[in-house]
Amino acid sequence: MILIIGAGMAGVTLARYLSSRNIPFRVFDQQAEFKNQGFGLTLRGDTISKLLPLLSLKEQELGPAVAVDRKTGKTNAFLVNVVTGERFAAASFKEGASTRDFRTNRERLRGVIMGDVAGSVEYGCKLVSFMLTTSGVRVVFENGVDVEGSVLVAADGVHSFIRSRLLPHCVPQDWDGVMLNGTCRFPITEWNAKIGPHIGDAAVYPGFGDQKVLAITIYDADWDPYSGYVNVSWGYSRRRKQGDDPLFVRYAERGFDKAKAPDAFWDEIAALPPRDLVEPFRTIFEGMRKRGDRTIHHQLVSLLVPKEDLLSKLQSDKVVFIGDAVHDWSNHAGTAANAAIQDALALGEVLQTKAQLGEYYEDRYPSWLESYEKNGEDFQALHRPIKEWRALLDAQDVEQEKAELRMNAAPAAQL
Ligand SMILES: Cc1cc2nc3c(=O)[nH]c(=O)nc-3n(C[C@H](O)[C@H](O)[C@H](O)COP(=O)(O)OP(=O)(O)OC[C@H]3O[C@@H](n4cnc5c(N)ncnc54)[C@H](O)[C@@H]3O)c2cc1C
Repeated sequence: MILIIGAGMAGVTLARYLSSRNIPFRVFDQQAEFKNQGFGLTLRGDTISKLLPLLSLKEQELGPAVAVDRKTGKTNAFLVNVVTGERFAAASFKEGASTRDFRTNRERLRGVIMGDVAGSVEYGCKLVSFMLTTSGVRVVFENGVDVEGSVLVAADGVHSFIRSRLLPHCVPQDWDGVMLNGTCRFPITEWNAKIGPHIGDAAVYPGFGDQKVLAITIYDADWDPYSGYVNVSWGYSRRRKQGDDPLFVRYAERGFDKAKAPDAFWDEIAALPPRDLVEPFRTIFEGMRKRGDRTIHHQLVSLLVPKEDLLSKLQSDKVVFIGDAVHDWSNHAGTAANAAIQDALALGEVLQTKAQLGEYYEDRYPSWLESYEKNGEDFQALHRPIKEWRALLDAQDVEQEKAELRMNAAPAAQL
């Protein structure tokens, strides 16, 4: 019996895999019931390839089922200067991005991944202790449930209780950035009048300013021309300021209320100033306080548990880690959940073939290390000072002029 702690993206993917291979498992989560954990998630081409066989779906069936806009979930191939409206052509700053990548609605993606194991998740089970037994592991939950299994899978996220007990020295490091998200809904008529004409058919519309990114993303939509709506998730992120930064949150700060944006955030938004923003950034960012948008204030961290520690805990405690419990990096990399899904699939395969569990780490560790070491390069690139953006835009103009000259010269040369 495989015991999985955590029904996030990693835990449910593993549960589905084990179910599909008739391998006994139980999956527990501390939440009282399923609560949506975030809004959108970019699914990468390589993850899609690995997931499709498990889901028994074709790529063209998965897209509309989980894409944020219920169409294509397309990301723009450019970033917009939020004050001048100039476009900087960047297919993507993100490591490993491909044209197959698309933006998914987390809730629907998690639902599709879970499939018929949805009813197996045991909610209201907060792990409070675990121990080695002669035959495997025993876990005890706050509600008194007490279960034995052969292997314990820590899929309990970045604040992993299991990691904190077994490897207290492996603490996520603070990340020098600030990030807040929020959500709002536009009736379809308002969307079509104010936002749609600017965004077109993209579901992700990123903009840049001085060391900051203002992003607009659809996270769900109903395109009925009369009763439809578009749900938007906006993002505001920037580099950490020198000295005291009122929006910077340390990992150790557990007391802060992530659902309440501090006054300093509203002051910062008011100082942008919204009236100088081009549309659709103006409508989204100018109106957020008046609309009463729900906000989330993120703690940005970076983590990779050393491989020797992982292998030693596998031997001594029969515990194996997947997802954010073992690695985490900047949200802007847009790869952590993809890694979590791929971890679950890799571990499932090792469990199925009854290979040594250490092989799972041999398989996955090199890619974790690569992402961890590159962690933040994209964050710095996206949040560069406006002077650097200016230089990039000017260089882009020069390149465009040269390309036009070449195009015009080509027919003459053929004569
Ligand atoms: C704003 C934002 C945007 C992001 N965008 C992207 C993106 O575009 N692409 C991408 O790849 N990644 C993205 N990520 C990262 C991604 O969200 C995470 O990497 C992913 O959700 C991790 O999944 P997980 O299953 O490992 O952990 P989690 O989703 O955190 O799940 C852990 C589960 O364990 C449960 N749990 C915890 N402790 C206990 C306990 N003691 N007992 C029982 N249950 C417990 C929790 O309730 C939770 O359900 C983003 C993250 C953020 C914050």
